[in-house]
Amino acid sequence: MKQVSIVGGGVIGCSIALQLQKLGFQVHVLERNGEVGHGSTSASCAIVRRFYSQPEMIAMAHEAASIWAHWGAFLGPIDDDLAMFRRPGMLFLPPAMDETTDAIVTEMKKLGIRVSVLSAEQVKERFPYIDVSSHFPVRALEDPTFFDATEKQIAGAVFEEDAGYIVSPGLATLNLRLAAEREGARFLMNCEVVSIRQGEASRFQVETKDGTILPSDIVVNVAGPHSSVVNQMAGVVLPLKTRALRREVHAMVNPLFASSPRPDVPVVGDLDGGIYFRPDAGGRDILVGSADPDCEVKEWIDDPDEYLDTVTEAYRQRQCYRLMKRIPSMGLSPCRGVAALYDVTVQDWYPIADKTERPGYYVCIGTSGSSFKTSPVLGQLMAQLIKANEQGQDTDLHPLQLELKNIEMTIDCRFLSRLRGTLQTSGTVIG
Ligand SMILES: Cc1cc2nc3c(=O)[nH]c(=O)nc-3n(C[C@H](O)[C@H](O)[C@H](O)COP(=O)(O)OP(=O)(O)OC[C@H]3O[C@@H](n4cnc5c(N)ncnc54)[C@H](O)[C@@H]3O)c2cc1C
Repeated sequence: MKQVSIVGGGVIGCSIALQLQKLGFQVHVLERNGEVGHGSTSASCAIVRRFYSQPEMIAMAHEAASIWAHWGAFLGPIDDDLAMFRRPGMLFLPPAMDETTDAIVTEMKKLGIRVSVLSAEQVKERFPYIDVSSHFPVRALEDPTFFDATEKQIAGAVFEEDAGYIVSPGLATLNLRLAAEREGARFLMNCEVVSIRQGEASRFQVETKDGTILPSDIVVNVAGPHSSVVNQMAGVVLPLKTRALRREVHAMVNPLFASSPRPDVPVVGDLDGGIYFRPDAGGRDILVGSADPDCEVKEWIDDPDEYLDTVTEAYRQRQCYRLMKRIPSMGLSPCRGVAALYDVTVQDWYPIADKTERPGYYVCIGTSGSSFKTSPVLGQLMAQLIKANEQGQDTDLHPLQLELKNIEMTIDCRFLSRLRGTLQTSGTVIG
């Protein structure tokens, strides 16, 4: 039985552990925190949508949504509460209803995704609490015209009927851990990997901070924002680069919670306004994060162990004032929320799920703030990719063809390889 060390017990590491163990590998997950899912996964907004620039990613997200909708069946029996998929729908407000938006909608419809195009008037009718003014191009808060009234309306909207979010990302990760343990995977907590050396009897010697050495035939780097640090330990340089990016998500009191009847606020990807938001805490709060407008300076972090992990007034004002433009009944709430890191593939903001030049060393990294949703499928992809390569298939020459069983289609996984070049994407968290 081949021994696998997975570095990182986030949602993706746990998902890979479950699938690899099912394929007959002996898996150890090494996690430096005291429990799984306490890294960037714990800060995730866990939004599940299919609106993406690449057709294969739309398909992966659609497959994943179908898995989240049948989470218990996917996991098999475990002794725990299950994470839940809430589906109030997701409204996208693109800066323009152009060929890019049309192509995405066409692709979504082709896959049978319930999506509709709405005019500004239809948005107003369906979501009367949403202001349909256009704020594009998005202005910085420091811009003296930031609060100026605008006569322009949004170009239109795309509504994905059964998109939503997972409650909660931490619980979903624990669910995966329990399912993987049931299959025989082992989880080592408080176990920080500090070096990955050449082995003798096995390919690798994985050393942890307390001096333990784990002989391993296979190592999988799923260290989230520490992905580049772990690659350095293994002496692996990829053609695509990953880098940590600091983000804040703020919680604001939802003024609509007190309304009667209480509206079911959808998830909103407000690209016109430079934010995204979704309901939280049973609808009492609204979480708001950045959709990476051009006017925002990105906070790249060189050392993922050294960053400010508390929310700041500057972000609160920037994100909350943008939200107040979209929902005018919103008040400015106290400063609450999370500060965390994305792991960004700087070239195109798509994950790298692949083997590397070093035999037996694999990566699933650069998940760029939007791969919680696809974690169940990334687990299957990585497990099959590892199995194929370990059995002699060179997936650089013959890319993995991944069957998406729920939506009955097969995708070519080259679009997530380290050799893909640069994909034509939005270059933002939207993907
Ligand atoms: C603020 C925010 C909002 C987001 N919102 C969404 C969203 O709405 N929808 C969506 O789909 N995605 C979203 N994401 C992205 C999603 O959460 C991530 O893509 C996903 O959680 C990454 O999972 P992971 O397992 O790769 O990484 P992580 O959860 O970061 O796990 C990596 C683990 O590796 C461990 N580790 C690191 N170095 C070592 C080492 N040397 N030894 C041992 N362990 C180590 C860490 O402790 C950590 O637990 C968001 C992310 C953030 C930060």
